[in-house]
Amino acid sequence: MKNNGLLFVISGPAGAGKGSVAAELVKDDNICLSVSATTRAPRGKEKNGVEYYFYEREQFEKMIAENGFIEYAQYLENYYGTPKKPVDDWRREGKDVILEIEVQGCEIVKKSVPDCVSIFIMPPSMEILEKRLRGRGTETEENVLKRMKRAQEELPLAKNYDYVVVNDVLENCVENVRTIIKAEKLRSQRSCFDI
Ligand code: 5GP
Repeated sequence: MKNNGLLFVISGPAGAGKGSVAAELVKDDNICLSVSATTRAPRGKEKNGVEYYFYEREQFEKMIAENGFIEYAQYLENYYGTPKKPVDDWRREGKDVILEIEVQGCEIVKKSVPDCVSIFIMPPSMEILEKRLRGRGTETEENVLKRMKRAQEELPLAKNYDYVVVNDVLENCVENVRTIIKAEKLRSQRSCFDI
């Protein structure tokens, strides 16, 4: 469907800065950010329906059974999933949609939406990643260590993504991602002209 909005999947280890990148991208009125559902508890000032929909496990599993997710995955001890309806609605309206999800979820999305564009946000180093995770001030020591371990597993998977962007300076990273979005929209296969 040529007039549908595009689907961009942004992954990268927790602390790489995906959230900050996405927050900048959605300042464009034509770009929407999917709000995921999760069974993890709210962190800091997170509010239901803003950062996430916070579900009980039963509620999440019911939604899986009803085929309500484009994808879902388990990360550490919790479920995370992308509700299908808002994404489909936005894309039908011609809006581009961003999913900020982890690597297993990206693999699932690539199967169901083969023309999605995947972008991996890479931290400049593991030291900086750890510093950023601790800097949040909302993670327990145990969680920081678990997320760092998970990051070690995720980094080698960057090669499976269409693009890899290092998040050293946020503005540069955002600029690079905007360039990717612009170029993807200009691809000849997506052109609205009969060429
Ligand atoms: P956090 O607990 O730090 O908010 O998120 C943990 C990880 O889950 C992050 O890598 C984040 O991108 C990922 N995540 C958030 N929402 C979703 C989702 O809907 N699906 C999947 N597969 N991963 C998600």
